[in-house]
Amino acid sequence: MKYECIIVGGGPAALAAALRLNKAGRQVVMVAKGNPASAAEPWLQSLKEQTQNIQTIPEEVVQATLGATEKKVATKSEQVLEASALILASGCFDRQGFIEGEEKFVGRGVFYNAYQDGPSLAGKTLIVEGKTEQALREVLYLSRHAGKIYFIVPAMRLEGDSRLTECLQKEPKIETLLSASLKKIEGNETPQTAVVLSAGAEKVIEADGVFLYARRSRPQYDYLRGTVEISEEGCVLVDETFMTSIPGVFACGDMIAGQPQLPFVSAAQGMVAAMSADRWLNLNE
Ligand SMILES: Cc1cc2nc3c(=O)[nH]c(=O)nc-3n(C[C@H](O)[C@H](O)[C@H](O)COP(=O)(O)OP(=O)(O)OC[C@H]3O[C@@H](n4cnc5c(N)ncnc54)[C@H](O)[C@@H]3O)c2cc1C
Repeated sequence: MKYECIIVGGGPAALAAALRLNKAGRQVVMVAKGNPASAAEPWLQSLKEQTQNIQTIPEEVVQATLGATEKKVATKSEQVLEASALILASGCFDRQGFIEGEEKFVGRGVFYNAYQDGPSLAGKTLIVEGKTEQALREVLYLSRHAGKIYFIVPAMRLEGDSRLTECLQKEPKIETLLSASLKKIEGNETPQTAVVLSAGAEKVIEADGVFLYARRSRPQYDYLRGTVEISEEGCVLVDETFMTSIPGVFACGDMIAGQPQLPFVSAAQGMVAAMSADRWLNLNE
């Protein structure tokens, strides 16, 4: 079966792209394995409802063959789909990366985005694990809300802007543990304690919430196998129309990384990528 556009993914980026192309009268199909990373926000539910009638194949894409005029994707069950345009929206949620206890508390004590979930944790004790500038920025943001923060850094020093490190040192609510790592999160309905390896010994820290930045994600594009250009940071490179290095192949959402990684940013990018794909189809079909 040949489509006008295939969309790989089922998260906010893919749904918004599918909706936009469907409204433009394009013959579109989504291929999506599993569930997206996003929390169940009302606008996302509404987006899902609006895309219910768009054909979706609940499968993993394992291979993509990308030519200038024809794009083919193969699924795990060896279905081969063909289209003139392709939108990649497979996110960067690596589900293999859970630490002990993480999966149990996702969305109710284990979070990945301070701007989204930090304000509801006023006065609470939090653990933040990460070593990147993003982790540093978000731990500083969280300190406006939290009562106390243990910042677990799985490295000898933090990455990124040294001025932010100075801000961190001045913030009395944050206790930074360098060369440390989070081993386990424990609790009943929500987290109560976490086991942290620091200075060669395991310690138990009481905490109401945990924010993870150290190992939560990597762009999900194994199926591309060196076809489109990838940045030094490992993200799919796109131009301002969200087109990749291959004409007619677009990418959007978390897999093109950049910051911030938020569902509505992905959805907006999906919408723009779909408009670009529509324009590209007009000119190239
Ligand atoms: C671990 C994690 C937790 C997060 N938690 C929150 C949160 O609690 N609140 C919040 O607001 N934001 C959260 N975010 C951020 C937010 O979820 C993302 O910014 C947003 O979901 C990205 O949308 P997306 O459409 O780009 O990708 P995703 O929502 O990740 O969707 C990608 C889709 O592609 C599918 N897919 C992947 N590979 C393939 C393949 N080979 N074949 C077919 N389908 C494939 C996936 O199954 C998924 O359906 C989280 C992000 C991560 C990584």
